Amino acid sequence: MKLIIATNNKSKLKEIKAILGRVNMPIISLNDLDKKFHIKENGKNFLANAIKKTKPVSFAYPDDLVAGEDSGLSVDYLKGRPGVYSKRYSGKNWTYEKNNLKILKELEGVAWKRRKAHFIACLALMKNGRLVKKIGGRLNGFISLKPKGTAGFGYDPILYIPKYRKTVAQLSASVKNKISHRALAFRKLKAYLRRIGADCRG
Ligand code: IMP
Repeated sequence: MKLIIATNNKSKLKEIKAILGRVNMPIISLNDLDKKFHIKENGKNFLANAIKKTKPVSFAYPDDLVAGEDSGLSVDYLKGRPGVYSKRYSGKNWTYEKNNLKILKELEGVAWKRRKAHFIACLALMKNGRLVKKIGGRLNGFISLKPKGTAGFGYDPILYIPKYRKTVAQLSASVKNKISHRALAFRKLKAYLRRIGADCRG
């Protein structure tokens, strides 16, 4: 049995592998599979999208465990936006930089205490097309006044974490992989795999 991570995103996969550490089964991603999947992420919420990413892969590879994750940024002042629209928030020709600048523009002049935001990750674990477990994780912070830092990806340069007095993009990978929304969700997955007897180490 393998653990298939239902993602093509190399930055995410790198984080996920670092978080899971050594697991007593091979961890692979969509890039390693013969079959190709074209998934429309048009679900109403993160769980719906996580299931959309996971289900077709799980049906195609029924003997393996498949974990699909959907994540994004939720800004209180924007009533939860960009939410499920996080990836393409600045439009068809989105880039991470354009997405960040759009959020900063929308929060121009907004006082610090009203800039609360969080990253959220929702994970669906499936076997043979059936949902075995759903898991969530969250990282709270504030939208910074300008982008800072170069590590990570996506909205990392604009989510400021008060405890570290840094944006996520200014944190080392090892710190991000301890505190992030994805870290919490995949650590819970690791504990679950251990409980059901899929022996994990590391
Ligand atoms: P998806 O889950 O691959 O659809 O990605 C959703 C989007 O959320 C990404 O393209 C990023 O813009 C954002 N996102 C998800 N996780 C992170 C993170 O750890 N840091 C920064 N941005 C993230």
